[in-house]
Amino acid sequence: MSARILVIDDIEANLRLLEAKLTAEYFDVITAADGETALSMARTASPDIILLDVMMPGLSGFEVCRRLKDDQATQHIPVVLVTALDGRADRLAGLEAGADEFLTKPIDEAMLLARVRGLTRLKMAVDELRLREASGQRIGVIANSAARLAGAGVGGRVLILDDNARQAEKIASELQAEQRLVIEQTADLAHAAARADMDLVIVNLDSAEFDGLRVVAALRSDEATRHLPILVVLDTDQRQKLVKAIELGANDILARPIDPLELSARVRTQIRHKRYGDLLRDNLDHSFELAVTDQLTGLHNRRFMLQKLGALVARAAMGGEPMALLMVDLDHFKLVNDRFGHDVGDAVLTQFARHMSTHVRAMDIACRAGGEEFVVLMPNTGLEDAHQIADRLRIYLAGEPYALGEGLERLAVTVSIGVAATLGASDQMDAVLKRADLALYEAKAAGRNQVISKAA
Ligand code: GH3
Ligand code: MG
Ligand code: MG
Repeated sequence: MSARILVIDDIEANLRLLEAKLTAEYFDVITAADGETALSMARTASPDIILLDVMMPGLSGFEVCRRLKDDQATQHIPVVLVTALDGRADRLAGLEAGADEFLTKPIDEAMLLARVRGLTRLKMAVDELRLREASGQRIGVIANSAARLAGAGVGGRVLILDDNARQAEKIASELQAEQRLVIEQTADLAHAAARADMDLVIVNLDSAEFDGLRVVAALRSDEATRHLPILVVLDTDQRQKLVKAIELGANDILARPIDPLELSARVRTQIRHKRYGDLLRDNLDHSFELAVTDQLTGLHNRRFMLQKLGALVARAAMGGEPMALLMVDLDHFKLVNDRFGHDVGDAVLTQFARHMSTHVRAMDIACRAGGEEFVVLMPNTGLEDAHQIADRLRIYLAGEPYALGEGLERLAVTVSIGVAATLGASDQMDAVLKRADLALYEAKAAGRNQVISKAA
């Protein structure tokens, strides 16, 4: 699928020119002639990239950019500001407004395509993360990290790879006030440093000692540095190298002679992007973990247990292998709380969970169903086998006393276990749970510390 680009310019001829160039490269182009229209199109037409003219009557490009970046619905869309040729002041104002990239008029075609391709890649990665984050949100466990996007982009760890010590020092001293810097002069040392928790690497492409493009390619293909932003430094006239660097995955380009303000602004932008990506990725891992894990014991939680049980019962009902379920309840657990307090009760539950999960078979799935009640799901297991395993588990657990703290007595905790297994085509998850529950009740009634299974 080709990326969709929204082009905004008040001059019709400019719109047509850009539209023609981008369409020829198979981009899907939509256009707007003023800021207000652009803002509503950005919300409704979900463009992947926005190409925005600075000089427009009504809302200026800066204002449009600021509003796009203030709006949660559009802030993740990369914005390329199109400025006048000598537009240094414009570029700085644009960076302040949150622009991701710049092009100067008249637009150079190679530069246009390089920038657009680079940003398309960024956008695809962000989209994928946002999508996965959105599905995390639907199950209601995480806050929208996009709200936190607007970090300042300072205090980042920046690695400078440059064989020219003077230039490296110069860049470092410009950035020193805002970022934490590391300088390396060889590609190997730089790559090793990049693997250790950096937020950005700045690579000199005109080095005599190493091939900067090769470094970019290596960083991109290494799993540990795949998401690390790369800013390359090169002479303005090196068109081919520039295009190649973007193709290989460089995120941004800084032309020599280096403008200190532009340098620090670009570095901040890249660090913001990096942190945004990190946040999304962290949230993602974290949200999945939160969604399926019981916080006290680290076992799978009830939500996960029910999902998994549903799938296993359905598979058995369709003629697959039978599955069994143990419902495990601690005996007289209320007494533990009453005698030693709730915190000790919690500690016992945590130790119990560890004992139980290390004692069941590798394919069994230990879950905390709630309170002091646990469930073990046993794929590929019939009722008799499950009963045997349950009894071994009961004996093991009863013999495993709990340390209640320094100098305190060691406590024995027993369990009662109800066992049920799938019965075939007409069986349902609720019915299996109910049989296990009844069996557990009988085990309690019969004096506790025992296993009862329910065949039907
Ligand atoms: P039985 O042998 O009949 O199962 O007796 P019991 O005391 O274990 O059962 P009951 O259902 O009467 O009480 C369960 C107790 O488990 C009550 C509650 O305070 C305690 N409990 C449930 N969840 C937690 C928890 O997360 N932490 C702690 N410390 N206690 C919990
Ligand atoms: Mg109990
Ligand atoms: Mg109970």
